[in-house]
Amino acid sequence: SSQLMAGKRGLIMGLANDKSIAWGIAKACADAGAELAFSYQGEALKKRVGPLAEQLGSDIVLPCDVSDEASIDGLFAELEAKWGKLDFVVHAIGFSDKNELRGRYVDTSRSNFQMTMDISVFSFTAVAKRAEKLMGEGGSLLTLTYYGAEQVMPHYNVMGVAKAALEASVKYLAEDLGKDGIRVNAISAGPIKTLAASGIGDFRYIMKWNEYNSPLRRNVTIGDVGNSALYLLSDLSSGVTGENLHVDAGYHVVGMKAVDAPDI
Ligand code: NAD
Repeated sequence: SSQLMAGKRGLIMGLANDKSIAWGIAKACADAGAELAFSYQGEALKKRVGPLAEQLGSDIVLPCDVSDEASIDGLFAELEAKWGKLDFVVHAIGFSDKNELRGRYVDTSRSNFQMTMDISVFSFTAVAKRAEKLMGEGGSLLTLTYYGAEQVMPHYNVMGVAKAALEASVKYLAEDLGKDGIRVNAISAGPIKTLAASGIGDFRYIMKWNEYNSPLRRNVTIGDVGNSALYLLSDLSSGVTGENLHVDAGYHVVGMKAVDAPDI
């Protein structure tokens, strides 16, 4: 697949470090010949993202806080000036107050509900609207979601509600942008130990549960997610839009604890 992404230019949003899902996706795209730009949130992350981008031959590293409309406009204005066109965008961004990623969903505060929805859901739509203008030749938009949108998972709480809204957004965006040849999809990734995941209560237990009970009897890696992202971002998936691809070692098809799963 060395030339799969040759000639394609893509924006990667949500890289924090080399554990990030965005990193697994960026590496897969770069290996397949894509040219990449990166956005980061906050000056502290610039020091991390800059060297990672450089490893993949990219020197386009731009600030963007998705809770700020002007900041998103600034990012896309820079991209337009540098590239003029865009072929794909990866949205690997989510945020909620970690104090509410434990305990009961019913106790979610109004302010954190609104912030979680704004950063984790609306931002994808806000980005899609700007990306559309640079995708005259069509394109592919990808976001990241989790099974906690579909079924109740311990501690996922308001983030599960947000991911359900994000998955619905994927479908509405797919319809709106499909007429322009822009495809919109999600990957529902199994649990992976990242910075964002470390905020979720009992995350080690959740990882073990998935390892013992998923059909593949293991957890997925950012490499697994990167490979599937390559499919959705490239022309291999030219007939696919509005899809939610589960990259979760098959966990989403399981209805009962495995007979061979040890007690944890
Ligand atoms: P991560 O911490 O590496 O990445 C989260 C990113 O979101 C960070 O780069 C952070 O800077 C960015 N972000 C947060 N608020 C932002 C804002 N206001 N503006 C711009 N960027 C902002 O963690 P990750 O696990 O790689 O998360 C990527 C995506 O994958 C998230 O949507 C997450 O919900 C999703 N996901 C993660 C898992 C998992 O188990 N790790 C499973 C399924 C889905």
